[in-house]
Amino acid sequence: MVSTNRISGFRKELCNLCGECLHLCPVLKLPLDLAKEEFKALIEGEESKYVLSKCNTCFSCNFYCPQNANPYQLILERWNSLYKKQGAPPLYKFVCPTETPNIWQLLNIFLSDKEQMWISEWMSYTPQKDDDLLVIGNYTHLFPFIIGGSKLLDYFKPIDLIDHWEGGAYLYQGGYLDIVQKIAKKCRNDFENWGVKNVAHTLDAVQYIFSEVHPTEMKVNHEQKFINFNDWMLNSLETGKIPIVDKLKFSTTVHDNCYSKASGGKYWDPPRKILEICGCEIKEMEHIKKDSLCCGFGAGASWVRNLSIPFDIISEGSKKFKEAEETGADALVSYCGGCIYLLWAIRELIGSKIDLYHIIEIVRMAMGEQLEYPEIHIKRAWDIIAIITYQLIISILQKNFFIKQISYDKTKSTFKPKRFLMLRTIRILFRIRFIRKVFRKLFLAQMTILKTR
Ligand code: SF4
Ligand code: SF4
Repeated sequence: MVSTNRISGFRKELCNLCGECLHLCPVLKLPLDLAKEEFKALIEGEESKYVLSKCNTCFSCNFYCPQNANPYQLILERWNSLYKKQGAPPLYKFVCPTETPNIWQLLNIFLSDKEQMWISEWMSYTPQKDDDLLVIGNYTHLFPFIIGGSKLLDYFKPIDLIDHWEGGAYLYQGGYLDIVQKIAKKCRNDFENWGVKNVAHTLDAVQYIFSEVHPTEMKVNHEQKFINFNDWMLNSLETGKIPIVDKLKFSTTVHDNCYSKASGGKYWDPPRKILEICGCEIKEMEHIKKDSLCCGFGAGASWVRNLSIPFDIISEGSKKFKEAEETGADALVSYCGGCIYLLWAIRELIGSKIDLYHIIEIVRMAMGEQLEYPEIHIKRAWDIIAIITYQLIISILQKNFFIKQISYDKTKSTFKPKRFLMLRTIRILFRIRFIRKVFRKLFLAQMTILKTR
């Protein structure tokens, strides 16, 4: 276990400009001299040649810094300055529930009746003070079938809060620090108004944001006890609260998400123990834990050209599939809902054959629950690809923007769907196998062109 340094922003007084952070960075791998120069420029606020345009916001450099100076937080501060100066790229509206259109609003068109029913139940519930809440979160909302209808929900009151923005976790990774602070205050007010004491989350990211980033960096303290759902599942499996009825006899490899590297590495072992209890053999990838590669999402954080964002994301994510396939494992398992929706889209675009599960699905299978795997994931992956394609097309004519609101007006909600005829047409076309094949080829060719520039 690596020592934990309670994060409190970049600590300039500790930095000796050794350059190790950017030299050991699994994405940049800068020669030491260049790494020193680049980091000095970053500190002095001078033009960055590499970091601000190529960083995958993966947290690893904090582990590599021998001085515990938190270089990752300096990158976030610099991105925050860029955002304040230039705004966010139009494609980023996609993940902003208060902008229109956004992914939740668009995906609503494609949700099945069963999914609509779960979501409407989770979104309309008003928490009571004795509830043990389970926050479904913005990502799980995109594939509610991962947990919807499961006995796992019997232990909690599920609630779906899109305008909690996962506590600001994904905005934090892009350096939108001033917005994260507003979200932290909103979350605190909501929790206090409801009077709830226990709040569970399915993301390490949210656990870390609530328990570390809000109090230390945003100066917003919460009174609640935050429960990591992986810890809860592990404990429930170990104590027999969740009985295993069907040991899974296949091999898996584990994707460690960016936020799993926060808090000194305490998030890495529970998912592996869960897999073992469920009967899975683990075959590790070349880059794991503190060196783990990003699912691709982080490549979108260091945006340079709006148009290249999806290609950068898929290009980075395809490295993960290459490593996963090299292990010879039957399945790749993610314990982050943010990673898995992108990983499924990437799997479909690059044509990988490795199975891909969320850790919750592994537990459900071992509990004897039936999943509509893989059909439902493949369908959702093409829903997401259609939405990204649509959003990319409409963003060509849009300008950079600033996030002005963090809560949406429920009477004019940006979550509600409109007709979106172009999106529906794209989705219909993607049902045709030949069109999917041509789209894949064109997408990968464009990705190669952009990479060589
Ligand atoms: S956050 Fe990750 S990708 Fe970015 S500089 Fe640090 S180690 Fe490299
Ligand atoms: S942040 Fe740490 S690793 Fe990076 S240059 Fe400073 S002391 Fe070295």
